[in-house]
Amino acid sequence: MNKKSSFIIILLLATCTFTQTSCKWIKKNNAATNEEAEKIERPPFVADSAYSYISDQVAFGPRVPGTEAQKKCVDYLKQKLVQFGAQVQIQEGTVTVFDGTQKPMYNIIGSINPQIERRLLLMAHWDSRPFADQGTIDSDKPIDAANDGASGVGVLLEIARQLQLKKPEIGIDILFVDVEDYGKPEVENSYALGTQFWAKQAKNSGYMASNGILLDMVGAGDAYFTFEGYSVQYAGDFLKMVWGIAHQLGHGSYFSYTPTDMITDDHYYVNTIAGIPTIDIIHRDMSSPTGFWKHWHTQEDKLDKIDKKTLQVVGETVLATIYAY
Ligand SMILES: [Zn+2]
Repeated sequence: MNKKSSFIIILLLATCTFTQTSCKWIKKNNAATNEEAEKIERPPFVADSAYSYISDQVAFGPRVPGTEAQKKCVDYLKQKLVQFGAQVQIQEGTVTVFDGTQKPMYNIIGSINPQIERRLLLMAHWDSRPFADQGTIDSDKPIDAANDGASGVGVLLEIARQLQLKKPEIGIDILFVDVEDYGKPEVENSYALGTQFWAKQAKNSGYMASNGILLDMVGAGDAYFTFEGYSVQYAGDFLKMVWGIAHQLGHGSYFSYTPTDMITDDHYYVNTIAGIPTIDIIHRDMSSPTGFWKHWHTQEDKLDKIDKKTLQVVGETVLATIYAY
């Protein structure tokens, strides 16, 4: 993703009101305390499973567009979603990256309850950045992308597994987007190419979801998620709902109500092209010079940085959102 602006929308935050969905969460579950929130009927989230799906992806090597690892991983992700009972579609295309070269792109979509009109979109990018431009070691080589990519996919695969065991009342679309991280900061719209492709198709085909959640870097220890600017602007009510659920589950130390700058991540194009109000759960670190997780876009983004506690916190929050929605 790319940092676009440091504009903070405090006014918008102040004027956000709770929607019907937020009220539904409170009314349906009446979860005033963490203990009560724990009683909400939903399947468990197993962090060990999510971790193993991250490990499987990393084992293919960097999932850089145009490599053998990309092909192997797309087959793996398809097979997993089919195994978990989703209706799977591969959206195949070619995209032009920042330097003018063309790369193969595979977006993977797993639909649960495809017949139900009310839908929630859950997404993460599955490709690996082809260079470690924020690091000083091997900065021209691709990264393992255990956190920046594989973690969100791992969490969503575990959620797909749980949804098969206890079908939700709403429809869920799990979207793994490709070629997110092949961009250059100085080239506009050079990130999130898979999502831009998907969003144009979604708009043309009339696809709609009520809300969307993007997971990006949701696996490292000490994760810190904030009120990201575009999430506030386009999906403020839903953002409040999800953060409220996280706090009710006792995960408040991870989910901060602090407003932060706008990030041109996948959710930006889902909001602006497809018109689906979508939030970004992304690891920020305001003490790091980049404002992101300290190992962002470096060779240190490896499996040993993945913390099962963070996977648990994020997985539980998203699962609870599905059953409260
Ligand atoms: Zn990245």
